[in-house]
Amino acid sequence: MVSARLASIQESTTLKISAMAKKLTASGLDIIDMGVGEPDFDTPKHIVEAGCNSIRMGETHYAPTAGIPELRQTIAEKLSRENRVPAGAEDVIVTPGAKMAVFAAVQALLQEGDECILIGPSWVSYEPSVAFAGGSVLWGKVDENFMPQDIAEAIGPRTRLIIVNSPTNPTGAVFDRGVLEEIRDLAVDHDLFVISDEIYEKIIYDHEHISIASLPGMVDRTVTINGFSKAYAMTGWRLGYLTGPKETMKWVIRLLSHSVSQATTFVQRAGVAALQGPQDDVEMMVAEFRARRDVLVRGLEELGIPCSKPGGAFYVFPDLSAYGGGDLFTERLLKEALIAATPGSAFGPGGADYVRLSYATSQNRIHQALERIEKIL
Ligand code: PMP
Ligand code: GLU
Repeated sequence: MVSARLASIQESTTLKISAMAKKLTASGLDIIDMGVGEPDFDTPKHIVEAGCNSIRMGETHYAPTAGIPELRQTIAEKLSRENRVPAGAEDVIVTPGAKMAVFAAVQALLQEGDECILIGPSWVSYEPSVAFAGGSVLWGKVDENFMPQDIAEAIGPRTRLIIVNSPTNPTGAVFDRGVLEEIRDLAVDHDLFVISDEIYEKIIYDHEHISIASLPGMVDRTVTINGFSKAYAMTGWRLGYLTGPKETMKWVIRLLSHSVSQATTFVQRAGVAALQGPQDDVEMMVAEFRARRDVLVRGLEELGIPCSKPGGAFYVFPDLSAYGGGDLFTERLLKEALIAATPGSAFGPGGADYVRLSYATSQNRIHQALERIEKIL
């Protein structure tokens, strides 16, 4: 027995590949895991301490659905100060992971039959969230550097929503102010809502991160989402958040109150420490990600594999059309080179020629991966 709605939804490819890579490693194979997007660093010590102290203090009970007041206040200040997205504590909702924030926002915004635009290859969980709401996805085109191109052409009669994700998973593309202004103009002209998933905001190189909600005309039609998984290496803690128009937030709270109830109470204390504490660890991790990106992009170029240089996140998205496309190459990577990667097709029809390689692994392993790839070529 299964509901028709769930039966149409595939398992998350990224998480499936992550589980497979772990299983193969446990069986004794020397797998280089470039599959899942998960920082390989430990959560910074002061954040861990804050979480542990909170448990010791007995903060192990239910908290308000929208989050503990201290964290909501800290996030509101961060949004206002860093992102120029005006928010008070009452406008912020804390979620168990940014994934839940995406899911809840999509459920709150879409009606059965509505359309949502995704811009080029997009993270694996957006389309299932839209499908779960009874909506459908329309794919906006991108150019060779994964920048939006002629998005207006994708707009259909029942388009209500655009999901923006800059820096982008899986391509690493960063949308500058001009690109975001074009999306803003479209949203205003066609009366669309925007969900802006900014989870890779801090993992950005040579670019400035701009929140689309900070552009004139956008604050009332944008839900801004962020989380702690990537910037603070906190994937397993499950902590994210969203802010947006009061009416939308009201429905999001209702959905959370009947599903997850809240993000874990002591994890929220760790979140306060992450935002209020020193940011040196974030800087160290970003510097290391940048060095790895440079090694990987240069290495792929030397192997003759076309690869646009990503401005953010920790993925490269090389073009393998000369080698039979992304699905075939991903399979060869695993079978012949013991490298776990994600096929570009997992990110939508525009990704079929590509493979996503996550460089959230050491430079040493990246060098080894390049040597193995050279051998199979
Ligand atoms: N958005 C994007 C683009 C992602 O890559 C991820 C993957 N972790 C998430 C949201 C969700 O992150 P989390 O649930 O771990 O906060
Ligand atoms: N977002 C990461 C990825 O794309 C983690 C897995 C997931 O949640 O999808 O690999």
